[in-house]
Order: sequence, then C-alpha cells, then structure tokens
Amino acid sequence: MGLEKSILENAPVAIDQDQIWGVGIIPPDFHPDEIVDGYGCVLMPAFFNVHTHAAMTLERGWAEDLAFEDWLNKKIWVAESALEEEDIYWGASLAAVEMIQSGIVGFADHYFWMDQVARVVEDCGMKALLAWCHFGNGVDQELGKKSFEDTISFVERWKNGAGGRIKTSMGPHSTYMDPPDVLQNFAREALRLGVGAHIHLSESLEQVQNSRKNFGKTPVAHLDELGLLCLPEPTIVAHCNVLETEDYELLSRNSVFVAHTPKTYMKLAMDMPLVEKMHQQGIRVALGTDGPASNSDFNMWEMMRLTGLCQKFIHHDPTVMDRTSLVEMATRISATAMGFSDSGIIQVGNKADLILVDTSSPHMIPRHDLVAGLVYSGQPGDVRAVWCDGVCLYKNGNFLTLDYERICYEAEKRAFRLTGKEMKNMRTYNA
Ligand SMILES: [Zn+2]
Repeated sequence: MGLEKSILENAPVAIDQDQIWGVGIIPPDFHPDEIVDGYGCVLMPAFFNVHTHAAMTLERGWAEDLAFEDWLNKKIWVAESALEEEDIYWGASLAAVEMIQSGIVGFADHYFWMDQVARVVEDCGMKALLAWCHFGNGVDQELGKKSFEDTISFVERWKNGAGGRIKTSMGPHSTYMDPPDVLQNFAREALRLGVGAHIHLSESLEQVQNSRKNFGKTPVAHLDELGLLCLPEPTIVAHCNVLETEDYELLSRNSVFVAHTPKTYMKLAMDMPLVEKMHQQGIRVALGTDGPASNSDFNMWEMMRLTGLCQKFIHHDPTVMDRTSLVEMATRISATAMGFSDSGIIQVGNKADLILVDTSSPHMIPRHDLVAGLVYSGQPGDVRAVWCDGVCLYKNGNFLTLDYERICYEAEKRAFRLTGKEMKNMRTYNA
C-alpha cells in the first residue's frame, strides 16, 4: 500500500540504506543484498504511536476497574513514587518489544527520566519524539526531583539524536497542573530551540469548567494565549475529549495534532472526542495508544478499529470514518505529527519505515478488500517483518535488536518491586 492511498499488486519495492529506492519498477542498476518474498502479504507503511507513556508497562494490569481519581491517587501515583531511574529503561524496553512486534516503528513518549527512553530508542532502532513531563510546581513535586532547566537540557541533549531517529519536544503535563508562567517559559524555550510541545489538553468537562473559573477561558484558548499552539514544530495535544465551538477553530488554524487514544477513553469512561467533527473543521488527528497503565497494550490495529467503530457508533452513521483515513491516521499523519514527514507513504525518496503483514490467516479471508481486512480484522500477530530506516528490527517472530527474554525478566521484577508484590510465580532468566 503506498503512493497516496493506492494499492499496487505484485509490486517490488527496493530499499537502499535508509530509503525507498524503487516502487513497482526497480532501477536496472539496483542489485539487492537480500530479497524478501512477500507472497500472500501486504507491505504497508509502519505505524507511529502519537501519544504514550512507554515505561508505564510496569503498571500494566495494576489498576483496574477503578474510578479515575482512585486509579490515579491510590494506584498509579503510589507505584510511580517508588520508581528508580533504571526502571524507566526496562519499562520502555518492554514497550519497545511490544511495539515492534505489532508493527509500530515510532512513538511520541511523555514521561520522566527520558534519557533512559532515549537509550532504549538508540539501542532498539526505533524512532521517537521524546518529551520530559514536567508539572511546574516546584522541584519537590517532580518525579526524580528534576527542574524545568533539567527538562530543557534533555531537549537540547537528544535533539536529532541516534542519527536523527530521536526528536525532542517540550513536555508540560497539562494546563491544569502547570501554572501559566511555566507554560509561557516552555513556549519561549520551544521557540529558542526550534521544537514543538506535547501536552495533555481538555480531557473532561470538569477541566473546562475549572479553566473558565481560573483563567476565564477554555483550556485550548488558555494554551493558545500562552503561545504553545504555534511553535516551530507541531504541538501534540492529548486528548481533547471536551471541546467548545471556538476550540475547534483554534485547533484547526494552528500547527497542532490531536492525539486520539480511544481505548483509554472507554476504559476510564471518559467523553469520546468527536473525531469526525474535528476532520470537518480541518483539525489533524493522529492515533496513539496512551500508556499501558490505562489502556493495557500497544496495539495500533486496535486503535484504528476502535476509532472507526466509536465514531460510527456515536454519530449513528456507518458512513463516517472511512477505512483508508484510519490507516492514514495511524501511519502518515502520526509520523508527520512527530516530525517524521518522510514516512507514511511508500514512495521513492521516503524513509524505509515498513511492515510486512500476512493476509493469509483465516480472519483475513476472503480478501475482497485489503484495507478493510487490515483495519477491521488485522492483528499484531499478522506482522511478519518490520523495518525502520531500512534496518530490519523483527522478522518471523525474531527480534533482531532486542533481548526479549531479558527485557521481560527485568521489567516484571521491577514492576513487582514497585507494587510490593512477592516474586513467586515469576519467570526466571539465565543470561
Ligand atoms: Zn497521556
């Protein structure tokens, strides 16, 4: 699948170094080192996950069936208070294993001790847009006791790191946690460093009401006034569940991408954003999984499917959210939101960020409509191979850049330490 929404049959694709060199017609002087047989498969752009907190794998399944306040105050923040810096490396490594296996090559991460996540990205060969989350209420309130300046120096330290596979952005937590002067400082630093921002925005009616009470305007208008919606690189705003009429206009005329993570909204019983309305107003919407503490996994197949199903359901209209636009939101649009605009379409000159997907499993048969099969029947287990910048990261069940066994061992050991769980029934690992 490539060349702007078209599907080519029996088309060879040539990769040289990190780029796509030929599509359909291979240059006569191209002599490959390796030929991959894609019989029965679709080669499609790899997924980009536009909003997550990767190391929250350590809290997967730890806070279930709870009201949002209890989920956060009694569980998530309790476990996070015991985090140590090295935990982030192993939690994010577990996320990388799962993302690669399901066809994701890039992720926009928003968390703490982000040098550890950068190390993971460097090691595993993925791409990432990394933002160090900052609450802005004094160093003692920050995980790891890091200052505003510490988060800014991370942005400088890793900007265009790992051969350009790492990009960085500002990471204020939200308009309800960060005071206005801190948000303004983030905007000023983003302008100075030529980057964007990644922030939670307008997630509930209560947040909108409090914003009106405290600042006299909606969270979107508040952020716009403080200068964070118009930066040198895009601002990713998660999640925009509750928007007022003027917010749609503000989001559409700025350099903004809304991160849409429908599984979290359903699991935590939040309002479902009106993606179809955002599209009608010209707002760019990209798909993400959110952190696995709230949504459990990193499955972009499920995100495409849930986005389509939820929008059809809430609009009482099965014709909205066509299947091709769902693929675009999980690939090209998410990649562009993260600054990787040379990804997401299989065309000459673009980066070779590709996945090979088996379509011969029973749930894909008959293959009347390949895009419908991918969106509404596709599974992580259908992914046969994954390339990022032309480097193969995963092939036929084998991870080529990560030690899968060790990562599962280290991550589970650390997750049990965080939550005070005894380590019986634990997998063992022998190097
Ligand atoms: Zn989030």
